[in-house]
Amino acid sequence: MPRVFSGIQPTGEPHIGNYFGAMQNYVKLGNLYGKNSIYCVVDLHALTSPTSFDRELLAQRTFDMALANFAIGLDPQKVTFFVQSHVPEHQELSWIFTNITPVGDLERMTQYKDKTEKLESIPAGLLMYPVLMAADILLYKADTVPVGEDQTQHIELTREIARKFNHAFGETFPEPKAEYNRQALRIPGVDGNGKMGKSKGESSTIGLLEPLDSIWQKLRVAPTDPARVRRTDPGDPDKCLIGDYHKLFSDLPTIELVYQGCRTAGIGCVDCKKLLLQSMTEHLTPIQERAQELRGDPDFVRDALSQGAREARAIAAPIMEEVRTKVGFLKL
Ligand code: SF4
Repeated sequence: MPRVFSGIQPTGEPHIGNYFGAMQNYVKLGNLYGKNSIYCVVDLHALTSPTSFDRELLAQRTFDMALANFAIGLDPQKVTFFVQSHVPEHQELSWIFTNITPVGDLERMTQYKDKTEKLESIPAGLLMYPVLMAADILLYKADTVPVGEDQTQHIELTREIARKFNHAFGETFPEPKAEYNRQALRIPGVDGNGKMGKSKGESSTIGLLEPLDSIWQKLRVAPTDPARVRRTDPGDPDKCLIGDYHKLFSDLPTIELVYQGCRTAGIGCVDCKKLLLQSMTEHLTPIQERAQELRGDPDFVRDALSQGAREARAIAAPIMEEVRTKVGFLKL
């Protein structure tokens, strides 16, 4: 059975892009592979972003990310779900990998170049980010990593690190492969300004747990197909982000109504947006209610994370012991 590993950035409240692009896939893989689906809220990685140097904010965001995943139906009894800093072996393996990874390879990473382009002083953690990521994956001998295509280079480096370690110290790690979620759509931002993303600010995102009246305020002013200048002008839902959202949230009869109504100018954009809000309400309300319940029972989340860390360490400890032996650390 494949062993799946995925790291989840503790960005606080996830948005619907995260939900359709990754979180739903976690539930699906969890149903297929059970405890061999290993998911980790990567709070150590978050430290590479200067905005994470806020003790309470980092802890709160880590907690909220776990809560949101449980609220959408990820069952911590079924999968292995934990927080990265609760399993110190990640850092130990990362240090060993740091010593077999050329600085030049790390400097060539596109994400590193993008993130450091405007920085006057570059934290070493940004350079080492992909090494820690390789340790996250290989610590569990995971062979399958569900990621976005922007992570291709990092997975290739992970494979390279596995090869180097195996060559230097004997066959130990598998070479993991990236699994791209072909269903994952590039969810457009609600401001019509490219892909939905936290880095683009609140105006671009629709939070999974955002109050529905706040969602409506964003939908109300969202751009539509520019061809529909007047109410009587026909449009094309395939050129409209509201049309894209309908494809994610609405049932088939509503989608057919929108396509037909838009192309014949039979419905106006406000009515179309109201239909969307209705579909979103039906989809998001049970998730938001479950999140509310979990907020009232924080011990559920904390207990699940403690249990998850124990399960993760039970897998990681013997692998780390094998690594220590192969590297040649003194045993007492
Ligand atoms: S009717 Fe709907 S899909 Fe068509 S342009 Fe207006 S908002 Fe977009």
